[in-house]
Amino acid sequence: MPEGDTIFRAARTLNRALAGSVVTKFETQLPLLARIDVDSPIAGRSIDRVAANGKWMQIYFSGDLILLTHMLMSGSWHIYRPGEPWKRPRYHMRAAIHTAQFIAVAFNVPVAEFHTSATLERHPSLRRLGPDVLAPDFDVARAIDQLKSRPDLEIGVALLQQSLVAGLGNVFKSEVCFTSRVNPFRTIATLEPLEIETVVQNARKLMSQNITDSSGAGIVTYGGMRRTTGRSSPSERLYVYHRSGDPCRVCGTPILSRKQGRDARATFWCPRCQR
Ligand SMILES: [Zn+2]
Repeated sequence: MPEGDTIFRAARTLNRALAGSVVTKFETQLPLLARIDVDSPIAGRSIDRVAANGKWMQIYFSGDLILLTHMLMSGSWHIYRPGEPWKRPRYHMRAAIHTAQFIAVAFNVPVAEFHTSATLERHPSLRRLGPDVLAPDFDVARAIDQLKSRPDLEIGVALLQQSLVAGLGNVFKSEVCFTSRVNPFRTIATLEPLEIETVVQNARKLMSQNITDSSGAGIVTYGGMRRTTGRSSPSERLYVYHRSGDPCRVCGTPILSRKQGRDARATFWCPRCQR
């Protein structure tokens, strides 16, 4: 699943390519988007900015129109120059925004909706988002309070609840618990205040490192080269995620994995470093 860092990076790349430009053509295969495009055409509007909010991406057009997309597992945004061949088949295209210089194409996005600022404000999923670990004004104290408001939850489950803290996905969940030396199956009630704060600080730190680590150019895809260890070789990028049976990078104990929570998401941890 794309995590907040990849969405943030994608939004930044899209913003760089599109902000300030005028839409020359809009294409979509989604009936609801097409209907709005007929009623109040997208072509001719300018693009004010592109922003990420947790795992949601928002493209702001002039005239109070916002395209909201969520990638879930399968979606991605690509950027092309006019005439450049697309790397995914055209029938995977859900929406394409053309400007004089670029074409931004959303492939297989499962959620894509037009909003005004008023309807966006009332959007149930957005309204319920907790503090975004990648937001410039991220409020550590509020994130800690949000987590403490659910003492019954295991920390490995709580970190995925976007209504508590927004932006983390399944990879970072395990990595944050490892770097914080906290066992992901402990309930929040059993965590010391310093442990909760460490988890929140590490969540922001690891996610931020992954956006300054930008691979930069051209295609925006999801599930890129996340890393938490500071090393870039594929076998050394992460501490515990997807490493069950492999030796812990700190103590050598084999890494364990188990499904966790109602959604049965895989969790990885070192039983010695994270007691
Ligand atoms: Zn260990």
